[in-house]
Formats: sequence, structure tokens, C-alpha cells
Amino acid sequence: MDAGRFVEVADRVWHARFPQWDVGVGLVPGRDGAVLVDTRASGVQGGAVVAAVRAQFPGVRVRHVVNTHVHFDHTFGNIAFAGATIHAHDRVAATLDGEARRIRAAIAADCSDCPEYGYTVADLDEVAQTRLRPPDCTFGSSATIDLGDRVVTLLHTGRGHTDGDIAVQVPDADVVFLGDLVEQSAHPSLGPDCWPLEWPDTLGSQLNWVGPDTVVVPGHGRPVDEQFVCRQQGELATVAAVLRERRLAGMPLADAAREPDHRLPYPLADLADAVACVWAQLEPS
Ligand SMILES: [Zn+2]
Repeated sequence: MDAGRFVEVADRVWHARFPQWDVGVGLVPGRDGAVLVDTRASGVQGGAVVAAVRAQFPGVRVRHVVNTHVHFDHTFGNIAFAGATIHAHDRVAATLDGEARRIRAAIAADCSDCPEYGYTVADLDEVAQTRLRPPDCTFGSSATIDLGDRVVTLLHTGRGHTDGDIAVQVPDADVVFLGDLVEQSAHPSLGPDCWPLEWPDTLGSQLNWVGPDTVVVPGHGRPVDEQFVCRQQGELATVAAVLRERRLAGMPLADAAREPDHRLPYPLADLADAVACVWAQLEPS
């Protein structure tokens, strides 16, 4: 990984990876300014993105920022983009304060270096101290940003990783940013605000815009292809099927979070939040 350096993944579509939480940032320059996809985890980190764009793309002005979903590592850097319009799904505006409370409480409970995810106590302090900048421009199903010589389309196809995940499509370059609906450097993160039963269908709808040559940029990790996304969708469908089966059979939540099943593609320890979500979202038959 060439940390913090933008790499061209398709015609005039750029992607940079940053060490903390291995978050990816996209840049789509056009005639009338650029769209930036996701802003990292703090005001300081967002400022580093501003500096990286300025150094690598002199003269390019970021006029639009898109948040692929509400999570802090994709939104807290918004504050660094003073002159840009921030676009996101309606639910990002509705849940950003709650996300801030959640992450600040998590940091207060455990503030230590984490080499596995590339962050330090100093990074966490910056996250906790960041002032939120909510989106300016939100939508429910789709929106378009016109850059003069190209357009960028934003599309929500349902709930999954959160209730407000969107794809950022760049049709003229055949690129789709999918946020954390797909992850490459780790398996998908199924946190306390995920929708495991709906996620596979949401991803399936996004796959309608993905062909064999499409470059798919995940929220974390390097760009992938259609096959990768299909494989991950299959894994998420298996998680949904196993958890649905357990819930409908009346299994107690504590057992469901403990009993192994050879079909599950991810460690059961990583699925504790997903189990709780399914138990809250579905009644036993
Ligand atoms: Zn996320």
C-alpha cells in the first residue's frame, strides 16, 4: 500500500488508502471541480486528505464530498472541507449524532493503540475531539452530481452495512465505490447498526451496475471486481440464512452467539452484533 497517495484505478478516477482503519478515499475530478468520496476519521485526518489532494492535483478544487455511509471513519473528516457541498443518504443526517455518541463512548471505554487497525491513542483523541459536519444535501434513493464533462451518480438500494449505504457510480469510467457494503482487507464489518437479513439483496441490486470490467472500490482495501463482490455477497447470504434459521427455530440469543456452524464464513466472535440485530429485527415463528 502506498499510504496516502492517490492511484488512478480507471480513467480519471483516483483512490488512496490511509493506514488508520485502512480507510479508502476516492477522487473524481471533472471540468467543474472534483467529487471526493469519504473523508476519514477526524478533522485532522480530513485535513491530511485536503493536503494530499492539493499536493498531487494542483488546481483541482474539491467542490463535492460524498459520504458512503454514516460511520466515523468515513464522515468525521467532513469538517476539513469547508467550501464543499457534503452529499449523503437521508439516514446519515439522521444518525450522525448517534454515531458520534457511540464512538466517543467506545473511545472513553478503551483508548489504546491498535496496530491491527493502524491507529494510535493520538488518533483516537482526534476522533473524540472532532466537531461534526453533517451533510448539506441528502436524498432517499438516488442523486446526480454534474461535473460539466462527466456525471457521478449516488444510489441507495436498501439497508445492509448500515441503513444509509450508497454506491458512488462513475459511469464514464465504469467504476463503482461501494463503501462498506464490500470490504477487501478484512471481511465485512457487521456492527450494531447492520441489517444482515437485507444486506445480500441490497448488494445484489448494486450488482446490476457492475459488469465483468467494472472496477469496484470497497470502503477498506484495494479495488476488486465483480467476482469478488459476488463471492462476498454469497458469504453474507450464508450469514443471513444461518442467523434466520436459528432465530426462527427459537434459539436463545446467547446460544446463537456461541454455537459454531461450519457454514458460517466468518468467526462467530465477529458476528455477535449481527446476531443481536437479527434477534431484534425478526420474531421467532
Ligand atoms: Zn462502516
